Amino acid sequence: MMAASVSLSPDVLAKYQPVIGLEVHVQLLTETKAFCGCINRYGGEPNTHVCPTCLGLPGALPVLNRQAVEYAVLAARAIHCEIRERSVFARKNYFYPDNPKGYQISQFDKPIAEHGWLDVPEGDGSSGTMKRIGITRLHMEEDAGKSLHDGFADSVSRTYIDLNRCGTPLLEIVSEPDLRTPDEVFEYLTRLKEILLYTGVSDCNMEEGSLRCDANVSVMLKGASQFGTKAEVKNVNSFRYIRSAVHYEIERQIAVIEDGGRVVQESRLWNNAEGRTYSMRSKEQAHDYRYFPEPDLPALVVGAAWQAEILRALPELPEARRARMIDEYGISPQDAATFTSTRAFADQFEAAAKKARSPRRVASLLTSEITMRLRAAGMEMDASPITLDGLVLAADLAESGEISSKMLKAMLDTAFLNREDFSVVYAREKPQQISDSSVIEKLVEEVIAANPRQVEQFKGGKRTVSAFFVGQVMKASKGQANPALLNELVVKKLDEA
Ligand code: ADP
Ligand code: MG
Ligand code: ZN
Repeated sequence: MMAASVSLSPDVLAKYQPVIGLEVHVQLLTETKAFCGCINRYGGEPNTHVCPTCLGLPGALPVLNRQAVEYAVLAARAIHCEIRERSVFARKNYFYPDNPKGYQISQFDKPIAEHGWLDVPEGDGSSGTMKRIGITRLHMEEDAGKSLHDGFADSVSRTYIDLNRCGTPLLEIVSEPDLRTPDEVFEYLTRLKEILLYTGVSDCNMEEGSLRCDANVSVMLKGASQFGTKAEVKNVNSFRYIRSAVHYEIERQIAVIEDGGRVVQESRLWNNAEGRTYSMRSKEQAHDYRYFPEPDLPALVVGAAWQAEILRALPELPEARRARMIDEYGISPQDAATFTSTRAFADQFEAAAKKARSPRRVASLLTSEITMRLRAAGMEMDASPITLDGLVLAADLAESGEISSKMLKAMLDTAFLNREDFSVVYAREKPQQISDSSVIEKLVEEVIAANPRQVEQFKGGKRTVSAFFVGQVMKASKGQANPALLNELVVKKLDEA
């Protein structure tokens, strides 16, 4: 087996500048396919979600799916593209068994959107500066079917074809060759996926192929005026693998050049088990799809009024939402990033933060105590037994000091163990409150006697030290002292002391 990494000295690596551009395909979550009425759903008995149009039977005509256009416009705007009012579908001609028409309906010189961008942390992210990655274009096209090579008794001699996927609406999003490191590639994809999920146009499920990425990689000597020859790495099914594949590919190309060779323009496949890429087929220079305007579809016109109507569905996007949440709730950038990782999580936090006394308390509960218990139980956030009201109650009790953190943890443990809401556990197990002032007074006196140094500080004008006494007495009462009464008595006794 070949070694997964090429060994090159740091000096050699430092001579070269990697250049990367990404082509991302996303399947749209429309009800039906791009140009026919067939259901658009993953899986199903092979060749059951098909009709004369998506089977490419002679005479069957395509009709464009309105929802696919709306999703394309939403996604395009979310990545800051300009929308072209009049775009044109084109035939991309090629033969392949899973492509029954012999062409794919795509867009060529007049795509629906162009000139977008996305910001990513520069380099390995350590400098803290952001860098703008250009998005060349976003266009609409249709997916092909699938060739099935395994799982049949006669798989050795036959390949089967499933055309259920044929005609699924796709967006292709092409970046400029602006990416420079494997980490920038990872960040670009992570942020792009987050945005697509927020707009709701795709589920971006990589295992099911709803998000696929080809990475174009080249290297050149630093300072060179022309990019090197690129190789395209295909068929990588996770962002982390793409990062590894790009890393490998950069070093492979440098090694080829250092050996006096030339990088060949080709498609390569990533083999995850071996941690390397393999040549798949060299891309003939005259790769000619003979694009021409699709004669069966009129130009697509998205006028200003329709565009405005579509864009009303554009939600607040992750970057803007993070900034607002930090500002509005005083939470840390890390917590804001955690919450905005999905729209549902951010919605949940915000709903609780608006009701609770302290949004920051809600944030810390969610990111620590609750996340920890979900992880231990192997549960997703949406399976959490803690409801919105339970979360707000827990945060408020912790904030006011009515329950100690130890008690809070014990009650959360019970809630997760019994799959009960926190408010149910609290109603049953809430500590008996001590509201007898003579009992609390006695505890306050004891704590004051035991801490003369803090008493001096208080008398010296540092009145915030009273919080220390409140905490000590609360602890001594095992969290059961009535907090309002306790506060009042501490200040009174300190003033008298
Ligand atoms: P092709 O016609 O071979 O598909 P394109 O010009 O359409 O090439 O570019 C496809 C992708 O490759 C884009 O994302 C682009 O940014 C990227 N790309 C183009 N040239 C290079 C290069 N020299 N090195 C790395 N990526 C490149
Ligand atoms: Mg291309
Ligand atoms: Zn169909």
